[in-house]
Amino acid sequence: MKSISSLPINDTTNGWSGILDKWQPKAALEKDISADWLVVGSGFAGLSAARRLGEIRPNDKIVIVEAHEVGEGASGRNSGFAIDLPHNVGSSMEELEGSHRFMALARAAIDYHELQIDQHGIQCDWSQTGKYHAAVSAQGVNEVLIPFARELDALGQPYQWIERNELEKRIGTSHFAAAVHTPGCRLMNPAALVRGLAETLPENVKLYERTAVVAMDSQPQGIKVKTQSGSVFAPKMILCVNGFADRFGFFSRRLLNFAANSSLSRPLTKDERKVLDCKTSWGLTPANAFSGTTMRYTDDHRLLIRNNIYFNPAMRESQQHRDRIQRTHKKILDQRFPGIPEVDLEFTWTGYICLSENGSPGFGKVADNVYAAVCQNAVGVTKGTIGGMLAADLACKQDNELIGYMESLGQPSKVPPRPFLDVGVRSKFAWELWKARNEA
Ligand SMILES: Cc1cc2nc3c(=O)[nH]c(=O)nc-3n(C[C@H](O)[C@H](O)[C@H](O)COP(=O)(O)OP(=O)(O)OC[C@H]3O[C@@H](n4cnc5c(N)ncnc54)[C@H](O)[C@@H]3O)c2cc1C
Repeated sequence: MKSISSLPINDTTNGWSGILDKWQPKAALEKDISADWLVVGSGFAGLSAARRLGEIRPNDKIVIVEAHEVGEGASGRNSGFAIDLPHNVGSSMEELEGSHRFMALARAAIDYHELQIDQHGIQCDWSQTGKYHAAVSAQGVNEVLIPFARELDALGQPYQWIERNELEKRIGTSHFAAAVHTPGCRLMNPAALVRGLAETLPENVKLYERTAVVAMDSQPQGIKVKTQSGSVFAPKMILCVNGFADRFGFFSRRLLNFAANSSLSRPLTKDERKVLDCKTSWGLTPANAFSGTTMRYTDDHRLLIRNNIYFNPAMRESQQHRDRIQRTHKKILDQRFPGIPEVDLEFTWTGYICLSENGSPGFGKVADNVYAAVCQNAVGVTKGTIGGMLAADLACKQDNELIGYMESLGQPSKVPPRPFLDVGVRSKFAWELWKARNEA
């Protein structure tokens, strides 16, 4: 049996679940069981894989195990953008074709979410307000926004160019020189969405929470996993553990785990809302994803700040570090919204983003009886969802032209071994941050 060397931890700091009612986790697995299918991980990828299996194999027994609680992994901790467009489009025919495939995959995931939200009445503040892609400096406008707008033209996608003054009227800060608004992005409370998806799984899917896989054995007839107090045997397994996939022996030296920290303010008072004067909730992504700050104004009148991405292969962070980050986030808030200085940050949390060096997902058949949908490259609300669904289709030999689209994105490329990797990633990052320092 291969033992799983490190497990995810839940530091219980997640603000998105913190503002919801207390979650009642499903019982942990306490015995030895068998099933037709095993799905490991209950983020967007695992939940969509399990749901899809439940739908296309209604007579099969599907088990999904989650090390912690639903909504506490990256899927419940992200910034809540269901992004329908690629960040970088590129203008060659090949790049444009790639962008069309990206959009088809992302939009299929958005349609899937909307179907579940409508059918099951999932309350997650889902809204189609689009998103602002904004630049602070003239350099950001010239090097990112103008090329982005040109590429949207080439793709035939609608957008609005918005200058500083108009943007200030819409979002309450004059911090940005300009923005490109695209209408297709959806916003939500991600923890509420993940919980809703978990609560409405088909009847033939059984979810066990607080059930970490601690060892795995590949046998001739299938896969056996040991959990803390039980075991599962299944002929086939779909692995949806994101950046932990290498702990299971897959995608070794191909997954790069980064930490990202977010803060959520308390709800703004009526007077504070008048200062901001926003008519609706909104979401904004920075021209430079590494040095810039993602921001949101939520339906319940809170402000979200997300910045500070850094290489964190161990996927562990200290409270001391988070306290420092919270002070930085408060400065960012005050700088952008000087008219509301009393607004405190109620939550600050860390989440982990799994990237590959070449931006490709970890998707497909990875061994006998094992399929994977991992490494969503920071767009897992859509890519994780569609990846999980298509991994189920692939495993069931279900025809779906999107499988080919997904496969065309390639496989994560190999990176140098540590400690060379650490030096390489950190220096590349430092250079990126320095280049885009005016976007901070
Ligand atoms: C701060 C932040 C902001 C982000 N913003 C966005 C955004 O706005 N839009 C977007 O699309 N993406 C965003 N992302 C990325 C997105 O959150 C991820 O790509 C996505 O959640 C990945 O989904 P997943 O299902 O693949 O993995 P996860 O959500 O990480 O789920 C994997 C699950 O596997 C479980 N697991 C791991 N090991 C084991 C084991 N041994 N046994 C049992 N279970 C195990 C984990 O506990 C976890 O719940 C953001 C990420 C972060 C951290």
